[in-house]
Amino acid sequence: MKPAQPETPEPTDAAARRAVAPVVCYPVQTLPRPDMALYRAARETLAPVSEVTVPPREARCFHVPAGHFFRIHCVEGPQVGDLNLWNAQDLNERFYSGKTRALHGTHLSTGDRLWSGFPALRPLATITHDTLDWYGFDAFGGSVHDVIGTRCDPYTNTLLSGEQYHHCCHSNLTRALSAETGLPPARAERLVHDVLNVFMCTGFLRDTGQYFMKQSPVRPGDFLEFFAEQDLLGALSACPGGDCGAEHSSDAAACFPLRVEILCPAPGALAGWNPPEPNGYDGSHGL
Ligand SMILES: [Zn+2]
Repeated sequence: MKPAQPETPEPTDAAARRAVAPVVCYPVQTLPRPDMALYRAARETLAPVSEVTVPPREARCFHVPAGHFFRIHCVEGPQVGDLNLWNAQDLNERFYSGKTRALHGTHLSTGDRLWSGFPALRPLATITHDTLDWYGFDAFGGSVHDVIGTRCDPYTNTLLSGEQYHHCCHSNLTRALSAETGLPPARAERLVHDVLNVFMCTGFLRDTGQYFMKQSPVRPGDFLEFFAEQDLLGALSACPGGDCGAEHSSDAAACFPLRVEILCPAPGALAGWNPPEPNGYDGSHGL
């Protein structure tokens, strides 16, 4: 956090230095673009295949074949979901929220992609519909579906409160992945990673830069829809923070289930689409 009373006096040209215009770190003009027209046409043909209900303060896993879609639905009340994604064939290839943030910004919506980590660095999924895309950024600088938070976890909670709480999203995701894969919990925990905060409304305070959350604008009937670019294993936690309007890492908030729906497009609807290849860097690192 920036000190309220800096110890270092301002240089005489401080105003000029601050006035330098920013440059976007990663201009995405050369980023391979999803064929949204193809996805839009395909999503008009979707038929439901299966669904998974995530109970409050728990997580569940789900599988999505490459070329299928999945939706995360708000069903009974405002509820935030913490999403992990893995390449179903290789769980070491998993969602990289930091690079996704660097490429697409702090909050995701339709057309943005969820990228995997190195060395693959390729899309795991593409967002194809977002019923909260009207929200934009509010007067506090808040928006929905962030890749700036991590996931609520028992370690930070113990650090801050001294308490033991076992239904943070990190623990929920660990239990769900362990149950799904048969991996011992300690191994599964190593595969749990920073999330897409589905439906969560977050930002940074302008004066201190602190990460904030506020009551999610999501309502029953809202959903976020993804296209699976690869065979995916997903895990979704219904955060113990509920709508994250007050606190998380406790049983204090009202919590609701979330529903994950897997959908299949009609045969031929994805003609011309191919799963993304691994990244083209040769991996030699100059050696
Ligand atoms: Zn959480």
